[in-house]
Amino acid sequence: MNLPDNPRLLLFLRELFDTNAEFSSIHDDKFFAKFHDSQTPNLTILKCSDSRVQMESFDKTPQNGVFAIRNIGNQLSTCEGSIDFGIEILNTPFLLIIGHSDCGAVTAALNGTKTESEFINKELSTIKITATCLEDAIIENINYQVQKAIKKYKSRINSGVLTVIGAVYDFKNDFGFGHGKVVLTSINGITDASLVKAMYIERISNLHFLG
Ligand SMILES: [Zn+2]
Repeated sequence: MNLPDNPRLLLFLRELFDTNAEFSSIHDDKFFAKFHDSQTPNLTILKCSDSRVQMESFDKTPQNGVFAIRNIGNQLSTCEGSIDFGIEILNTPFLLIIGHSDCGAVTAALNGTKTESEFINKELSTIKITATCLEDAIIENINYQVQKAIKKYKSRINSGVLTVIGAVYDFKNDFGFGHGKVVLTSINGITDASLVKAMYIERISNLHFLG
């Protein structure tokens, strides 16, 4: 192996370290001291690995606040241990399962696409879709993952220490709430928009709920 000498790598490393230098210069010791020795996140998030889905779209300070799990298709079954860690070891009170518009994993599952990687195929095989169009399939997958989580963490949900929230991050405005909007699809598996709106909509002005 040789050390590559190419402009793209130099640019990448320069940007990485310039960004990090700026970040560390505007965060003083007190900022880091709060979580030197332990993490106390409020949220376990399960989201797709897609590069278009990033935390800053809906969280300004994820450090020590968000225990994040990412995989293709925001699936529970392909990273169950990591999710257990957030819920059962770190005791986060919220689990947010968030899909997104134009999801490649859901598209592949919808079309029955196979790749040359058996590992990709294995991860895609656990997405269960009956819908025939992509937007419906994205919501179906979110609801499916939410239902799996509800079954798995039922006792925590029933005792009120965990709330499971389903959502879609819609950067394409496929669901009509505007580009880049987060739209809830369920709370503890409840998808009835009138129930959710009656409980939350007057108290949370920017909340969007599908349906
Ligand atoms: Zn995706």
